Amino acid sequence: MQRLAKNWQRQRVRVGFVPTMGYLHAGHLSLVRRARRIVGAKGKVVVSIYVNPTQFGPKEDLSRYPRDFARDRKLCREAGVDVIFAPVDREMYPAGEGEEFSTYVVEESLSRGMEGAARPTHFRGVTTVVAKLFNLVLPEVAVFGAKDFQQAAIIRRMVRDLNFPVKIVVAPTHRERDGLAMSSRNKYLSPVEREQATVLSEALALAKKSVRRGAVSSVRLKADLARFVTNRPAARLDYVELFDPRTLQPVSKVGRGTQMALAVFFGKTRLIDNETL
Ligand code: AMP
Repeated sequence: MQRLAKNWQRQRVRVGFVPTMGYLHAGHLSLVRRARRIVGAKGKVVVSIYVNPTQFGPKEDLSRYPRDFARDRKLCREAGVDVIFAPVDREMYPAGEGEEFSTYVVEESLSRGMEGAARPTHFRGVTTVVAKLFNLVLPEVAVFGAKDFQQAAIIRRMVRDLNFPVKIVVAPTHRERDGLAMSSRNKYLSPVEREQATVLSEALALAKKSVRRGAVSSVRLKADLARFVTNRPAARLDYVELFDPRTLQPVSKVGRGTQMALAVFFGKTRLIDNETL
């Protein structure tokens, strides 16, 4: 991958990059289109497909994470992707004697709350693998989804702090018709859970509505939202947070421009969503 990327660099070919864990859906493909628009017809669009083990906790869904490379390859072809980079674990994280992997990239501020609190080693895995992928693909621009708001903020910070010569673009969340944010993990949902999974986007809409009526206290709104989510018998609220979109610090007064994020369990399946209120 890196040899190919260096050749492109020598020939001044523009490179747009979309990192994914595969099991592609329309949300991923919207990032691919965005990358293509930026680098143009003569540029190269690279999609990585790699279920990165270091961003999964010991009790999480690494082994059952959905995979279908043949389908992903077909979708990438149809979307005009130039190269799929799909490394295997032993290439990314060598484990043999004398060659084990021991260097990680750790963002220490934005990673603390929300997903970082719920999944303690998650962002260390994300920043490490994205740093590695940037060094392998050497992109001019990399496109991430707003669906993973905190992740995008952390990648931006990493790029700034460590001077990666990569422009970060964040594209809007692609949703199903009923509002559910597209996610590879939606496949885990039973029919009943799928029906109730709209509670995430409905909670965001509810919060927007109360903000339109005027600023509200964070404590009160959070309590209302928790009640709203818990009203769905299949849903268990992991967290709901109201925060400043730049600092990711919780706010006490919620108004226009406040960011809201939530995580909800349906059985073992954990879904996230967020929006600007
Ligand atoms: P994943 O394969 O889940 O690691 O996601 C790969 C990239 O696609 C990340 O930048 C995600 O934020 C982005 N993404 C995932 N779901 C969506 C969605 N529904 N809309 C837009 N981008 C998404």
